[in-house]
Parts: sequence; C-alpha cells; structure tokens
Amino acid sequence: MTFKELNIIEPLLRALNEKGYITPTPIQQQAILPALDNRDILGLAQTGTGKTAAFSLPIIQQLYQNKVHGKKREIRALILTPTRELAIQINESLNDYTSYTGIRHCVIYGGVKQNAQVNQLKDGVDILVATPGRLLDLMNQGIVSLNSISHFVLDEADRMLDMGFIHDIRRLLPKLPKKKQTLFFSATMPSSIAVLSRSILHDPVKVEV
Ligand code: AMP
Repeated sequence: MTFKELNIIEPLLRALNEKGYITPTPIQQQAILPALDNRDILGLAQTGTGKTAAFSLPIIQQLYQNKVHGKKREIRALILTPTRELAIQINESLNDYTSYTGIRHCVIYGGVKQNAQVNQLKDGVDILVATPGRLLDLMNQGIVSLNSISHFVLDEADRMLDMGFIHDIRRLLPKLPKKKQTLFFSATMPSSIAVLSRSILHDPVKVEV
C-alpha cells in the first residue's frame, strides 16, 4: 500500500517523500481514505503509531482542495491536544506536511506569554493546534473564533480526561459549528471515553491498531 493509493495528492506526497515515509502505517492505512471522505473517525491508537499524520494529512488535503480565495483566512481546523509537548510536536509535523500546500498553521499553549501566539493568529491561519486552557482563554478575550471550523481533532482523549480537561472540552464543544468533521483519538476506551465519543461523533468509522 502507498500514500498515492490512499488518494494523497501531489503536494503532500512530495513532503512525505522528503520525510522518507514510504509506507503508510496501519492507522494511516485505515483512517486516511474515510477521513478524506469527510467521515468522522473514532481512532484507538497510541503515540508512535503515526496517528498525527493519520489525522493531519486528510485535513490538510481537504483544506487545500477547498481553498478560499480573496477572503481573510479563518481558522478552519482545530487540533486539540492535552499537553504543550504534544501540541509542539503536532505543530512541527504540520510544518513538514504543509510545506507545498500554502496551508498555514500555528500552535497555542499555556505557561508562556500570549503575545507571540496572538501575533501569529493575527497573520491568519487555517489550522490551529491548541491545548484547552489557552484556547478558552484566547476565545474569552475575543482573539480566537471557532465559527469557521470544518474539521476538529480531539487528540489523546483519555489523557484529556485524566488531566481534568473534561469541563474545558464541554465548554468548547458548543462553540464549534454543528456541521464539521470530527476525528477522535484515544489510546484507551474506558466507558467515560466511549460516552464522550458517542456524544460528539456522527456515525464514525472505527479504526484500531
Ligand atoms: P506519531 O504516532 O504521530 O507521534 O508518529 C510517530 C513517529 O512515526 C513520528 O516520528 C513520525 O514522524 C513517524 N511516522 C509517521 N508516519 C510514518 C510513516 N508512514 N513512515 C515512517 N515514519 C512515520
């Protein structure tokens, strides 16, 4: 199986080739086609399985193919992840995957001054990688709007709950447009996660590695 067989387009293939990715990992083989079809995904996968590319590539590709011309860039995809380290890692992967697409992204997380993050947002981005606290903070200040989100990733959902982010997530969910694609990833599926996933996913494709 190749990325080309998964319908990945040329500007992304070029970036993957430069990264030295030859074969899609099992989670990528299962998730990419349905995600490109704009289906919701319930993914049971740990870090190290290639899940970042599994959710990022279909989102970048869909945004690239639905480019908006002549309008101010609005945030069209939100990737929510529990820790600063994960947020930075995902953002670095996006640096590589978006190289030949013109799709713009940035990352926000707490524990640092917000100025540099706010400046990046003001330049306009298509994809926002965020931890929950800083996201809510910037939303409350009117700096971030999620009105134009068409793709939403909830990464490491089990860890989100373990870290006490459930209230933040419950506060965020109603601010997202109803009509969107949701990609939900968790390493484990305790009943609390199953309940959360059922409340936010629509007819998801289940993928598991
Ligand atoms: P992740 O699970 O997303 O944190 O990815 C784990 C590691 O696998 C990262 O270092 C990725 O750069 C790498 N990776 C992801 N997909 C592939 C692939 N198809 N081929 C080779 N390496 C990959």
